[in-house]
Amino acid sequence: MSKMNAALFYGPMDVRFEQIEIPHPGPGELLVKVGAALTCGTDIKTYERGHPTIIKTIPSTFGHEFSGEVVEIGEGVKDFKVGSRVATCNAVPCMECYYCRRGIFNLCEDLLILNGAYAEYIAIPARMVKYNVYELPSEMTYEEAAVSEPLGTALHSIRSINIIPGDTVVVLGSGPLGLMLSRLAVLQGGRVILSGEITAERKKVAEAYGVVDFMDIRELKLEDRIQHVKEITDGKRGADVAIEAVGFPQAWEEAMQLVRKHGTVLFHGGCKSGSTVTLDTTTMHYAELTLYGRYHQTPDDYRRAFNLLKHRLVDGRKLVTETLPLSQLLEAFGKVRKFEGIKFAIDPSEM
Ligand SMILES: [Zn+2]
Ligand SMILES: [Zn+2]
Repeated sequence: MSKMNAALFYGPMDVRFEQIEIPHPGPGELLVKVGAALTCGTDIKTYERGHPTIIKTIPSTFGHEFSGEVVEIGEGVKDFKVGSRVATCNAVPCMECYYCRRGIFNLCEDLLILNGAYAEYIAIPARMVKYNVYELPSEMTYEEAAVSEPLGTALHSIRSINIIPGDTVVVLGSGPLGLMLSRLAVLQGGRVILSGEITAERKKVAEAYGVVDFMDIRELKLEDRIQHVKEITDGKRGADVAIEAVGFPQAWEEAMQLVRKHGTVLFHGGCKSGSTVTLDTTTMHYAELTLYGRYHQTPDDYRRAFNLLKHRLVDGRKLVTETLPLSQLLEAFGKVRKFEGIKFAIDPSEM
């Protein structure tokens, strides 16, 4: 046992399945046999066009939302043992830089990023083992535990804003993050309206998460959506909060049009670099909007996300449509692109 199955990124639209060397855990590290690696929009974008920060060498392993079983421990590891089932965030801050010293861990200047979950084994670096690895209780599945990474980013975003129980919250974007943000808004007492491509599958999950109203962007035009939100809010004023989870400038602009005076807008989705949006200065000034840009997560966000899944306050199982073998990774990406399913779990032990 010295080789393992892995998906390797060679360039845009060029992923190959090969046998590579199993990593060896160094001091403080864990070697984990991947139980589930989830598809993520970031990985799909990486596959389609490459990624400046995630892919550093070619060929490169990739995949970053995972959980699995510890099969070997590095020297000095005390908190975990062989056989522990664990999940980790894919990035960990340095705890020493300018931003870390100010508690803004998500903007760390020396973030350590882990990639390579679309492979049978992955070594978790010592810094990550120290701050960002959690053990799964026996009833928690690998699939739901792997949701902790994206859920941590949603939690990071939403904890910045103040949703007051009873607030009307519009979430733009019906992908996995739109659904997770909807659930978190419901947990904060929000009356949530989900706007996006509302497929039957997504609607089912959203309803289970407590979403009470939907706007399908394939049927309702922008003006109709603004009108609908006005009509269902007190005094036809608009939503108290709008949360953008699409990553397109049009959605950023729409979010600013859906809120009432003194409303809050949260931008969660990252747009293509260089994107700009138009902001109505009159509205911004006279309506006193509050805009939040939020990115990534801190170890505390990750810990909380893991606990929400562990206690099933967010049922992560609903977000994972199906488990597929590693050889079907690209088919899984294709399904996500066609809005079939929500997230797919890849089992790398099967080729
Ligand atoms: Zn992700
Ligand atoms: Zn730092």
